[in-house]
Amino acid sequence: MTKQLVSFVKDLYQTNEFIPLHAPTFSGNEQKYVSETISSTFVSSVGKFVDDFETHIENYTGTAKAVATVNGTAALHAALYMAGVKANDIVITQALTFVATCNAVHHMGAQPAFVDVSPVSLGLCPKALSVFLEQHAVLTESGSIHKITKQRFQAVVPMHTFGHPVELDELIKVCADWKIAVVEDAAESLGSFYKDKHTGTLGNFGAISFNGNKIITTGGGGMVLCKTLASGQHTKHVTTTAKVPHPYEFFHDEAGFNYRMPNLNAALGCAQMENLVAFVDNKRHLASLYSDFFKESDFQFVTEPSYAKSNYWLNAIICPNHNEREKLLKQTNAEGVMTRPIWQLMHRLPMFENAMRGDLSHSEFIESHLVNIPSSPVKSLGKL
Ligand SMILES: *Cc1c(COP(=O)(O)O)cnc(C)c1O
Repeated sequence: MTKQLVSFVKDLYQTNEFIPLHAPTFSGNEQKYVSETISSTFVSSVGKFVDDFETHIENYTGTAKAVATVNGTAALHAALYMAGVKANDIVITQALTFVATCNAVHHMGAQPAFVDVSPVSLGLCPKALSVFLEQHAVLTESGSIHKITKQRFQAVVPMHTFGHPVELDELIKVCADWKIAVVEDAAESLGSFYKDKHTGTLGNFGAISFNGNKIITTGGGGMVLCKTLASGQHTKHVTTTAKVPHPYEFFHDEAGFNYRMPNLNAALGCAQMENLVAFVDNKRHLASLYSDFFKESDFQFVTEPSYAKSNYWLNAIICPNHNEREKLLKQTNAEGVMTRPIWQLMHRLPMFENAMRGDLSHSEFIESHLVNIPSSPVKSLGKL
């Protein structure tokens, strides 16, 4: 299998050089727009590209207000703040995620609690969430609290793993029943739709990342998706030091963040947005080729849930067993085709090892069997 996979990938990308998991594609107006910011001297936090980039994201996702930030972790941090998370609260999320999800919770002074993922979406499982809450929470007038410690369950953070949307209707129903806010970690899922709605727009807030390895990049960057115009304006305010507008006085009405995205990065984002639809089409085509390739093998290609249209940010396979996985990782990387195991579960990291958690069987199975395979857009599969 490894040999065939290596030659399949090398043929696709038409190269014998190292093939990374995900590289950026700059084939549009990137240079032009970035040069414009330099010529204008507006490279920092004032300039038209930030507003234009936010408008691009609003139009594409349908969110009421998008607020650009310095990176995806900052977007999550600001979204949790806006969702009312306070020190000592519990925030429920997946153990199967990138560490940024939990770092954002930690830096609010809150504690992450881990619930299992669904084998259908690889993201937070509504049933497991419901079981966990039945076991640990009691509903009060003002929200849900822990039966014993009395800590507030203030937010649930589902993550759309590799771009595949979680079962949002069911999840949002559970959270509404327990009066808990939903903050979608949509860092990986720009271009992914749940039914007909863009991921990150169904919960109270959503967070997107434009890190260098994501479907589009601004070098570093992020975006908070806000469900209402009012919450969007407040998010913009707190991410820009919470300064009250005045011609010369400095007055800040709450402890804000300095998280705004520089115009230089937003210029890159505007150019990348012009190609997003092409990137998604290209990556979905690539996924269908991988799906055919693995059809007759013992390796199961991970496909989008039936209710969703995924951006297939990172393609993934489930190996038949742990040994086969180790063999595949070693041999492909030795041949210059990058593959990577999924993240270690969050409760295995020293800072989260004492976190509260439910049964994590599906997460553990995926952790020991899943491998990501090269997923950059492929030039020969259409105009980029
Ligand atoms: C990329 C990513 C983030 C945010 O990353 P930044 O590098 O801070 O932009 C958050 N959560 C997940 C799941 C991610 O993959």
